[in-house]
Amino acid sequence: MRWPFRTSRTDSRVVGDLTVAMLREFVPKCYACGQDISGHEYAEFASCVVPNKQGPQVHWFFKLFLEERWVDLRQKRSFEGSKDAAVVYAVLCEAGGQMLAIRSPFELWENNSLLQIQQVKLEAASNIRELGDNWKRIPDKDTAPA
Ligand SMILES: [Zn+2]
Repeated sequence: MRWPFRTSRTDSRVVGDLTVAMLREFVPKCYACGQDISGHEYAEFASCVVPNKQGPQVHWFFKLFLEERWVDLRQKRSFEGSKDAAVVYAVLCEAGGQMLAIRSPFELWENNSLLQIQQVKLEAASNIRELGDNWKRIPDKDTAPA
């Protein structure tokens, strides 16, 4: 099965600006406020190792994502440097926001792929904000390095 994904040349495993660049590419406009995501908060919310043969953990991970079971999903934070991973990012603003499921390949020459986006309503956004940690602000475009 092939996902209808778009790809990004940035690698989410490199922290900071590259993550921001990837999020900007995948979310040109916020689903909640319709604006550019500058000034939004983001955090890595959950992650799951994806073995060569996708097993039940991966299935469960995406089930939680699609059913918006954020409390349960937040418990999932497995990562191995030598394996592909599925990573969920939260991008929030005062109107709500969105959750992104991204495939982060171990192979450096492969691009990150956007698997799925879930829009987040205002009430859910405040829960997600409490569940998550290490929130960072997406800088304004003008001040972001190219
Ligand atoms: Zn927004």
